[in-house]
Amino acid sequence: MFCHQGVMMLRRYVWIVLHVCLALIAGLVLSVMPVAAAAPLQGDQQVYVVQAGDTLLAIAARFGVTVEALMAANGLDDANYIVVGQELVIPAPVEEGDTPPPAAAQPDTQVYVVKPGDTLGQIATHFGVTVEELMQLNGLTNPDYLAVGQELLIPTESLPETFPTPFEAITVTPLPVAQGQTLVIRVKLTQPASLSGEFDGRAVPFASEQNGGWALVGIHAMQKIGAYSLRVIARPQAGGEVTATIPVRVRGGPFATEDIPLSPERQQLLDPELVRAEEARVKQVWSQLSPRPLWEGPFRLPLQEERVTSFFGTRRSYNGGPVSGFHTGTDLGAEEGTPIFAPAAGRVKLAEQLTVRGGTTLIDHGLGVFSGYFHQAQINVEPGQMVQAGDLIGYVGNTGLSSGAHLHWELRVAGIAVDPMQWVGVLIP
Ligand SMILES: [Zn+2]
Repeated sequence: MFCHQGVMMLRRYVWIVLHVCLALIAGLVLSVMPVAAAAPLQGDQQVYVVQAGDTLLAIAARFGVTVEALMAANGLDDANYIVVGQELVIPAPVEEGDTPPPAAAQPDTQVYVVKPGDTLGQIATHFGVTVEELMQLNGLTNPDYLAVGQELLIPTESLPETFPTPFEAITVTPLPVAQGQTLVIRVKLTQPASLSGEFDGRAVPFASEQNGGWALVGIHAMQKIGAYSLRVIARPQAGGEVTATIPVRVRGGPFATEDIPLSPERQQLLDPELVRAEEARVKQVWSQLSPRPLWEGPFRLPLQEERVTSFFGTRRSYNGGPVSGFHTGTDLGAEEGTPIFAPAAGRVKLAEQLTVRGGTTLIDHGLGVFSGYFHQAQINVEPGQMVQAGDLIGYVGNTGLSSGAHLHWELRVAGIAVDPMQWVGVLIP
């Protein structure tokens, strides 16, 4: 009791208290707790009594000292093991000009302060790390125990500052990237070279421009959260091959779950054989690669009015069944017959009635980027036709597997469905 009286006590007072405590337990076996007896206090050291929810890191941050200094001052071997009620000697804060830096300034980590309602799972998803990774880094033993105000170290990766020749600069945005987002890579070169890339086993095609090039990577809506590597390969005209490796963290998207009620007639459209055949038909189109981008400037919304009735990435079930997939586009609510405009320039690659998708148009924007318009009442373009941004391409309807007039707008990057709304009004690349 007496020992745990204040949270913090001044040196001389504590020294006396420690003596009293030690005297009280003198007759007991002293191997109960692996808590080293504090070394005699020196200078302006303080004592701190460990509270419930404390971590060594949080204590170090509070007193502006390093975890290493705390461990050394208290003879601790294990940064993950402290006990409520344990008394820790707090060494003098590091003077200006001294090294080492405080724990918060460690490279490749950032500090997150736990807020009310946070769970470790949510924090992990938000930052693109696994719960296990967070527990290990922060010395947590119980994933269900978090204290509001507790400071958590979050691993981060920064882009290397220099790259091997012929790379002059490489930028990758956004980082971390969320499930369903489009990653934009820009490369500057010191000498002419052809560029290619690879992400998660998939080839990444580059568009070349003067002194460099750019590329897009679609992050799958169900991509496993965590750390990945993007490889950018330059082949200079003189010969040889140089690879730059860039760390890319994928974090969770903001996806809800929804159930779609379907009438028996519409449900027949879910015949797996039929779904598969149609899937193969559209996939054959959007897996093509036109080497040059056909669009310029930001994409526009394909309808005049923006009324999202179902977001991209929403996890979906039908008639109360289990979640069987995710929403591969954005649903824009509109009256039947509302005009649909091309959001950007491109070439029409498919324009026909499909069973599930209804009246369907697919536009190739080049460099593996395709946009899709489903459930149309009427299609106003033909395959092979070039369209410009703002051209009328069709009218909103309720055809195919649809339960009300709307436009399902889809965007594919090298076949991967991404959130089209990320592109609206934003200059990509
Ligand atoms: Zn839809």
